[in-house]
Amino acid sequence: MKEKKFNFETLCVQGGYNPKPGEPRILPIIQSTTYQYEDADHVAALFDLKEEGHMYSRISNPTVAAFEEKIALLEGGIGAVAVSSGQSATALAILNICTNGDHILASSTLYGGTFTLISSTLKKFGIEVTFVNPDLSKEEILKYAKENTKLVFGESIGNPGLNILDFDKFSQIAKTIKVPFIVDNTLITPYLLKPIELGANIVVHSATKYLDGHASSVGGVIIDGGNFDWTGGKFDELVLPDPTYNGISYVEKFKNLAYITKLRVQLLRDLGNCLSPFNSFLFNLGVETLHLRMERHSENALKLATFLEKHKNVKWVNYPYLKNSKTYDNAQKYLKKGASGILTFGIKGGINNAKSFIKNLKLTSLVVHVADTRTSVLHPASTTHRQLSEKDQLNAGVTPDLIRVSVGIESIDDIIKDFDNALKNI
Ligand SMILES: *Cc1c(COP(=O)(O)O)cnc(C)c1O
Repeated sequence: MKEKKFNFETLCVQGGYNPKPGEPRILPIIQSTTYQYEDADHVAALFDLKEEGHMYSRISNPTVAAFEEKIALLEGGIGAVAVSSGQSATALAILNICTNGDHILASSTLYGGTFTLISSTLKKFGIEVTFVNPDLSKEEILKYAKENTKLVFGESIGNPGLNILDFDKFSQIAKTIKVPFIVDNTLITPYLLKPIELGANIVVHSATKYLDGHASSVGGVIIDGGNFDWTGGKFDELVLPDPTYNGISYVEKFKNLAYITKLRVQLLRDLGNCLSPFNSFLFNLGVETLHLRMERHSENALKLATFLEKHKNVKWVNYPYLKNSKTYDNAQKYLKKGASGILTFGIKGGINNAKSFIKNLKLTSLVVHVADTRTSVLHPASTTHRQLSEKDQLNAGVTPDLIRVSVGIESIDDIIKDFDNALKNI
């Protein structure tokens, strides 16, 4: 199969693993830590990165590799590394090019876990960050760039404001200061939008969400666009000899695969946040229906958003495809096939009615998760954000009346009926 010639839907089903006659039809789970070799020279060649092959499942594994290849094809990248969680994916994507004394320019509307990773844990490593309001102009944001800025980071859809990132603006900012543009594409997925086509250089995913799609496994992926020139002077670690691999230069030896190769052979080797073959098998299975699920998630979410807008017990609704959404213009520009399955709305009567509404739901469940097949809700003010003061909650965009909905792929009639009943009975 010459994958690049095939359409997205075909790659979802058949990308990554191409069985020959007599081989298993479904991706085999190679549950092995280790691989056998011909002779000592063969092993030496692998250890010196002179030959490609599997050495040890902390660094690579055939089942994991098939999943990595599929995701790289779907995102339009040239290579990918799968890891143990979305948090690991973001951490490794950053640590591959940032060290003590470096600086990150990031959008302020990030997933909570990414926010604390960058602002707290990476800060302890000596990496500084400036969070910028993504609505500022290019010129205003560029004022926050520094000599030691090593990357620009954003999410294709913000949390919990559901703002669609202005890809043109952010990619131009990164180009102007000659650093890579890294995008978390978890909640939009490559079915709806491919960041690399819009100027991103590196994409990260929490595979735990729509790629898995069924709430079965935690995992993450880093995808390399292969479209950034690392030799500009800021990224010595990719250019200068690596003493831990006999002095190879990643850029010289691996060309446009330098970033993703270094991430695998240095960071997975040393930090060890590898993905298990079994979880890779489940992710691969999930992605076989990604195109169908995203189509239905988006369709159902728009229908539910439109229904809620007209409901007498609902104060406001936010969904990128609604005309009154602040992000409507970016959504029209960048999202041609749908706006994914996440929406938020405010219930009249505040926090008590919000709690009562959730209690009244029968089909819809209360979970601290999004992006699986079942419809679910979350009331951030009384759960995920309950430790914050009311002022900090408001700064994070969490109002007492806000309900976040992850719209599933059940019958939209049943979903609407469930919401209608629960709203009527508050
Ligand atoms: C869930 C999530 C993450 C973190 O992923 P885990 O797999 O839970 O570690 C990162 N970014 C976004 C946008 C997410 O939704």
